Amino acid sequence: MKTFEDLKNVLILNYSDKDIQLVVKAFHFASEAHKGQKRRTGEDYIYHAIATAYNLAKMKMDIASVAAGLLHDVPEDTDFSFDDLKNNFGNEIHYLVKGVTKLGTLKYRGLERYAENLRKMFLAMSQDLRIIIIKLADRLHNMETLEGVRPEKRLRIAQETLEIYAPLANRLGMFRIKSQLEDLAFPYVYPDEYKWVTELIADRLKTEEKYIEKIKKITQKEMVKNKIDYLQIRGRVKNLYSLYQKLLRKGKDLNKIYDLIALRIILKDIADCYSVLGIIHKKWTPLKGRVKDYIAQPKPNGYQSLHTSVFTDFAKVVEIQIRTQEMNEEAEYGIAAHSRYKEIVVMGKKKNPPKWLRHLIDMQKTITDNAEFIKNIKNELFLNQIFVFTPKGDVVELPENATPLDFAYYIHTDIGNQCIGAKVNDQMVSLDHRLKSGDVIEILKDKKRKRPNADWLKLVITNLAKNKIKSQLKNKS
Ligand code: MN
Repeated sequence: MKTFEDLKNVLILNYSDKDIQLVVKAFHFASEAHKGQKRRTGEDYIYHAIATAYNLAKMKMDIASVAAGLLHDVPEDTDFSFDDLKNNFGNEIHYLVKGVTKLGTLKYRGLERYAENLRKMFLAMSQDLRIIIIKLADRLHNMETLEGVRPEKRLRIAQETLEIYAPLANRLGMFRIKSQLEDLAFPYVYPDEYKWVTELIADRLKTEEKYIEKIKKITQKEMVKNKIDYLQIRGRVKNLYSLYQKLLRKGKDLNKIYDLIALRIILKDIADCYSVLGIIHKKWTPLKGRVKDYIAQPKPNGYQSLHTSVFTDFAKVVEIQIRTQEMNEEAEYGIAAHSRYKEIVVMGKKKNPPKWLRHLIDMQKTITDNAEFIKNIKNELFLNQIFVFTPKGDVVELPENATPLDFAYYIHTDIGNQCIGAKVNDQMVSLDHRLKSGDVIEILKDKKRKRPNADWLKLVITNLAKNKIKSQLKNKS
């Protein structure tokens, strides 16, 4: 359980005195409002508000969000109104709490509920991304205290977490909260599978923890020898739910999992990252094809790091991840890391929302049929994403199993229409070729071509390409 003292201790590290005063005021207001209220766990209600604000402060969210975290359940659950909030805390905090409250009220059940939930999420995202982040912080504490909830409600909340909140966090690059949400929901949604994975890895986890410790010591020595000043070296254990999904993809064979535990090295600057990669490769032989430079070529969600897998002294393969402190924060907190600088959508003002977000917002506006909407969203949001490159080196993110035509239409409608063939990594491929992460794609064009083939509808998997082809066929016929 987090106390207000815990919250203050986090705030002192990153926020000004004036900011902290605002949070103190919000705390007193929320304490008064929730006075006498208990949660099902028996805790005073205010601890839920504190935990939500604490999660937001940990992500270094802006101070309005932290205060809104403390106040987020006030209008819904107490005698105080939205006007009371506005009068005491001003427009911005009022706006955020209102947004979070709107997300919370769902009327329907089953499929309709799912669709309604998703629509509300995207609407909120188009207005202010902080609303979603506050909701995620709120959901994290609800998941941590899920034991106290009625069993049938428990399963629904856990399912919703796994199907909506975790994928959203993932899409926003907030990997820490995504992993936490998944691992909290996993035992409720898939109890048997949870038990299976936990038992499967128990022994290996024990032995691996030991040798990762050894690898860590050797690495530390190498750093000292080469006069590299590191900030942190630690083993990170893969989160259980993503391990489970990876096992399903690898035929349930634990021997095919190389990154159960990885070694993570945090350094002061980029130059040090490359130096350390060199030092590691001099010490241990890297596995072919597993060296990845996401610093020079970040993933589309902004993820940056160097990855390599090496054969260590113990005849074991270990994945090593090398990055700066900034990259590490970006990887853990994603879009939240930008909120203090207002580099995201706030209060209806758009600051260059990423392309995927614009797609999602458009979809929520244009697709009125709920079943169709969910199908589309699942494609865009929940399929594993791959990233490929244009010949100039620009990154394009597509869902798994995308084809060169998906790529072409993603770049531009005309390029799709004019497509007569494609080269992947300099090799000619057919138009139903499945693209893989890291592929470089060149579309061969005939500038005289003005319209797609009707058959192409069978070759593309993205809704974007499908919709473009359909409307082009309609236009020109
Ligand atoms: Mn709440």
